[in-house]
Amino acid sequence: MKEQLYTIPVNDAFDKDCECPICAMRKVLETNAVEYTMGPSYMEDDVRMNTDKMGFCREHMNMLLLQKNKLGLALILKTHIDHTNKEIQKLTQKPIKVGSLFKKAVENPVFDYTEKLTHSCFICDRINHTFDRYINTVLQLWKTDESFRKKYAASKGFCTEHFGVLVKAAQGVLKGSQLDEFLHITTKLYLDNMQRLADDLEWFTDKFDYRYKDAPWKNSKDAIPRAVIKTNGILEDENEDKSH
Ligand SMILES: [Zn+2]
Ligand SMILES: [Zn+2]
Repeated sequence: MKEQLYTIPVNDAFDKDCECPICAMRKVLETNAVEYTMGPSYMEDDVRMNTDKMGFCREHMNMLLLQKNKLGLALILKTHIDHTNKEIQKLTQKPIKVGSLFKKAVENPVFDYTEKLTHSCFICDRINHTFDRYINTVLQLWKTDESFRKKYAASKGFCTEHFGVLVKAAQGVLKGSQLDEFLHITTKLYLDNMQRLADDLEWFTDKFDYRYKDAPWKNSKDAIPRAVIKTNGILEDENEDKSH
């Protein structure tokens, strides 16, 4: 089974004490993809051809900006701009069709190109390629490995995005009572742990009341950084990166 390759990273993520183990495994893929992009591979023709064509989303460009390899980034940006300019020149040589009274939708190949380009990202693409296999591995492990099933049930639930990803992917992998059981446990994990976070946030806000000033923080001191993992998949060290 091809997915056997991924059982170690999936188990590692579920061993972490994290508000979303799926975010934790995605984060490892992201770190590896950023390091790969700025490592020796950017000098390889096929990699460069792809970064020229796809560019990077805002989030990942921000991560590349934090890397030390300024020469690499300048080269990547330079040939990406060269490529984009060539494509725009090609597209603007053709006359743009003007819409008529009867045809509301005006075709605009230049906009189609810029829209596609601003939504493509070499790093996102690289992450997604393996991420789908990780999700499939989670489901396969849950289906076949009793100890993983226990680990899954003991996890702290998932962020909203990955909860949705899991319930959708389960429909393609599990069937019948197994599917029902997976959906039930996953939904319960999501809701119960979201409620735990909501309770922590409530106590966090109560602590601003002078009556509770000297009361213990309980589990609320880091309620905000844990809550933004649940709502937006923002892991703590990402926050630190962005404050630099
Ligand atoms: Zn997540
Ligand atoms: Zn991206």
